[in-house]
Amino acid sequence: MQKPFSKILIANRGEIACRVMHTADRMGIRTVAVYSDADAGALHVETADEAVHIGPSPAAESYLVGQKIIEAALATGAEAIHPGYGFLSENPDFVEAVEAAGLVFVGPSAAAIRAMGLKDAAKDLMTSAGVPVVPGYQGEEQEAGFLAKEAERIGYPVLIKARAGGGGKGMRKVEESADFPAALASAQREGQAAFSDPHVLIEKFITSPRHIEVQVFGDSHGNAVHLFERDCSLQRRHQKVIEEAPAPGMTDDLRQAMTDAALSAARAIDYCGAGTIEFIVDGSGPLRPDGFWFMEMNTRLQVEHPVTEAITGVDLVEWQLRVAAGEALPLAQEDLCIDGHAFEARLYAEDPAKGFLPATGKLGHLSFSEGARNDTGVRSGDEISPFYDPMIAKVITHGPNREAARSLLVAALHETHVAGTATNAEFLSALAQHDGFVAGDFDTGLIERDLDALIAAPVLSELHIALAALVALGIDPAAPRTGWRLWGAAAHEIRLAHAGEVNTRSLSLAPDGSVALQDSGETRLTLSQIRLDGPHISARLGGSGARVDGVVRDIPMPTNRLVSILAGNVVRDFDIPDPRSGNARAADHGDAVVAPMTGTIVHLDVNTGDLVEAGTRLGVMEAMKMETALIAPRAGVVADVLCAVGAAVEGGAVLVTFEEEAAA
Ligand code: ADP
Repeated sequence: MQKPFSKILIANRGEIACRVMHTADRMGIRTVAVYSDADAGALHVETADEAVHIGPSPAAESYLVGQKIIEAALATGAEAIHPGYGFLSENPDFVEAVEAAGLVFVGPSAAAIRAMGLKDAAKDLMTSAGVPVVPGYQGEEQEAGFLAKEAERIGYPVLIKARAGGGGKGMRKVEESADFPAALASAQREGQAAFSDPHVLIEKFITSPRHIEVQVFGDSHGNAVHLFERDCSLQRRHQKVIEEAPAPGMTDDLRQAMTDAALSAARAIDYCGAGTIEFIVDGSGPLRPDGFWFMEMNTRLQVEHPVTEAITGVDLVEWQLRVAAGEALPLAQEDLCIDGHAFEARLYAEDPAKGFLPATGKLGHLSFSEGARNDTGVRSGDEISPFYDPMIAKVITHGPNREAARSLLVAALHETHVAGTATNAEFLSALAQHDGFVAGDFDTGLIERDLDALIAAPVLSELHIALAALVALGIDPAAPRTGWRLWGAAAHEIRLAHAGEVNTRSLSLAPDGSVALQDSGETRLTLSQIRLDGPHISARLGGSGARVDGVVRDIPMPTNRLVSILAGNVVRDFDIPDPRSGNARAADHGDAVVAPMTGTIVHLDVNTGDLVEAGTRLGVMEAMKMETALIAPRAGVVADVLCAVGAAVEGGAVLVTFEEEAAA
């Protein structure tokens, strides 16, 4: 394969930096990462061939400082800079600085970015290119009374948009004229605060809107192709949540009209590189060729580009690199076709129960389904820091048709396991199984309308408690030496805290090896055929006989243990308040004597089979230069002595067990 470059710098972090590096690697191009303080140990740094530190953790002092990035490229001999998305990807001044330094910017020209940078100018440009735009007002006059009259003319409901807006900021929907002045003032304030530009435009609010966008690609030889559409209607607060390609319900007529319009848009600005033309589509009935309008153009690679890659088989990053190096587009329009259907779900560290508040934390565990493409920039053990976007991964599935791809998505989400931070995984699963979504019948308001059902308070199932209790007690019925014999008929009590609430349960082992879980004397469930195999736990549920499987993470913390049970993609974290509570409780119940602290056994008084009185000294251990007597908690027969004189034992280790009490 001919290499367009021999070395490139990726001016980004996280999943997109890693994703660009994978393609570069495949093409034999060497990669340079840049990183901030917080990212010194990040996956994108490890993935790159070399890495340059560019400053403190806040993006404004590192990833957004164009000059530092250009210097890093020059210092490492990189020939081109790939900006990823976000950060400097749509900053025309940066593009000019990169070019002035004699480097190649992997993206469009500064002029193209400027032409599409402001929503009002872009709409004017599109109108002259013959592309339908949302009816509205996008002129210079900004006087409040004048804008109110324009809103009246357009007809309510209207949408006020900051012209410099992005990510849903500076946008206000207004239902009636009485609300207009206040909404205008707040959109202007937000535009000023976020983009230093209070200028707004006003649009007709399209009811039941769908967001459908067309991927376009141009080269420096005057060629332009489209790579079909993506549907990004599943949004929350104007942020995309699940995307798919192609759009459900798309007709040949509408696709023809939309892709023609998208190509006219790209040609109008001599577009070179990967770009996306976003349209709003009337979804109140069947899609129709006269029911779509230009919203804006994104002059970069989009987050959701993998769904297009899945259905076209094109590696868009490879195309970006080739086109940036001056090569012609690898394929012509007639060579491109749609193969099947694809979905992408955005997995975030955020807490749906708390209004989707971004979450931080250390990923105690992270694993993905093998049935999906998982684009990620983090690994088990990594920290989700507060400095950047809290995206954990994009889960992408591809199938021969929509339902097949959707089933794969549901399955993949089910097998996506994250422990250590709140995530939107269960919300994504609920969404992927929502009736409207299943039927392909939705608009951008679906999530907001059905939010309560989609984020229904996660249920703490008895099964999770049972599995966590087994793990916390260290019980492995398959290994009788270490587990089985500790279990008399007496119940072993354990306390597990989940979401601040303490659950107390008693576990007892029946002669057939099944475990009953009780709460205040009432049996909640029984588990049989329990297998603990590495991080995997499985059991058969009493009654139904169903098999349950889970993944266990047992994370020792300084003062407690964190046991995460992942069954499906439902993760429940339990705090075991006292690391020795399990065995200490067993001791309380008189079935075992545990080491009260870490130390050495200096003397033993009993053997297996001895009959002892309550209070009898069983042995002596030494810890921190002090001797401690091990005392029989009750009268009974010694079942086993699990330590020897001179042995070093851990605090909490079981030292002596008793035969079960006849009356127990
Ligand atoms: P941003 O640049 O802030 O992302 P966009 O102009 O791309 O803003 O719009 C974001 C989302 O807002 C769209 O995906 C769509 O859901 C909604 N939206 C935008 N314009 C309209 C409109 N005229 N009517 C209804 N919804 C709209």
